[in-house]
Amino acid sequence: MKEQPLLDARQERPAVVPAPGRQVLADTRGRPLRDLRVSVTDRCNFRCTYCMPKEVFGKDFQFLERNQLLSFGEIHRLVRIFRDHGVHKIRITGGEPLVRRKLERLIEMLAYWSDLDLTLTTNGSLLKQTARSLKDAGLKRITVSLDSLDDAVFRAMNDVDFPVAKVLEGIEEATTVGLHPIKINMVVKRGLNERSVLPMARYFKQQGCTLRFIEYMDVGGTNGWRMEHVVPSRELVELINRDMPIEPVEPAYRGEVAERWRYLDDGIEVGFISSVSHAFCRDCTRARLSAEGQLYTCLFASKGTDLRGPLRSDASDDEISQLIGRIWTNRVDRYSEIRTVETAKLRKVEMSYIGG
Ligand code: SAM
Repeated sequence: MKEQPLLDARQERPAVVPAPGRQVLADTRGRPLRDLRVSVTDRCNFRCTYCMPKEVFGKDFQFLERNQLLSFGEIHRLVRIFRDHGVHKIRITGGEPLVRRKLERLIEMLAYWSDLDLTLTTNGSLLKQTARSLKDAGLKRITVSLDSLDDAVFRAMNDVDFPVAKVLEGIEEATTVGLHPIKINMVVKRGLNERSVLPMARYFKQQGCTLRFIEYMDVGGTNGWRMEHVVPSRELVELINRDMPIEPVEPAYRGEVAERWRYLDDGIEVGFISSVSHAFCRDCTRARLSAEGQLYTCLFASKGTDLRGPLRSDASDDEISQLIGRIWTNRVDRYSEIRTVETAKLRKVEMSYIGG
């Protein structure tokens, strides 16, 4: 196995210390492996037009079978191995993670490591009924995806006629049970929900929640992405600043995805995730695990590496750890830095499969 380089500790967040005999892994560009996104299902109860369009993800679509999914025990084992390499942030995602049965059990298993920054991303549709059990299981904080407060726009975007009021009830319940902080992610697509930007900013400022605007990305191959559909963050900063003045905030740590800003009057933060207009590959410390155990080193990858096979064929922790080490130390990905109209047409893994 290739020698794994050590890292400059000054660039790091307060971290999980690698287990004896293990090191924080660094890739070919010196980027440490710090975050793991774990998709627990490829299914979702929404059909957001920019993510899982109905025409592709219809009733004939072949989702993963139950036995293809990693079990909670398998996920737990992998997280332990990643943590031993100093990974300290785990984000549970999907598909829609809250459609996976008994998810609280997995949260409980992972929350055992109190040094892990454990969080979850959800569309919020099932949050009202699950927030308390998630909190009781040990989840600390949560991110809710919400693209508009306008009921008609929201229903059209989720394409299953789901009312925005129910997501807001979920957010309220999450607040009540103490899942904190709650972050809200809004994808902005030109011509679809730009008019929702200011109402969203005003509402969540008032609620004291951090709202983050995400540029519409060319993930997957089914959403018909075009550059004209991207609303650059710069434009949103100006729009919000005219209405409610904001100022930039220093990043909290290397690899922070969102550019942070805060409102001058109350200090509430607002973020901008500019994967298209301002690539942040240079600092990307994230790996992604699909629900069936494929490991990806980039959101825009077309191919992953199977970890389920080794898990189910009695590979030892050491062998799996070395495999992960080889994958990460050979990593060269920097897709967003080299994106062109042509690369946008390449076949890439779907976001609903790999997780947000
Ligand atoms: N169902 C969960 C949710 O809604 O948060 C987790 C999975 S979802 C794929 C994760 C995030 O990816 C959501 O915030 C969604 O809006 C975002 N997303 C999906 N497709 C996207 C795209 N083409 N560009 C930017 N964000 C996208």
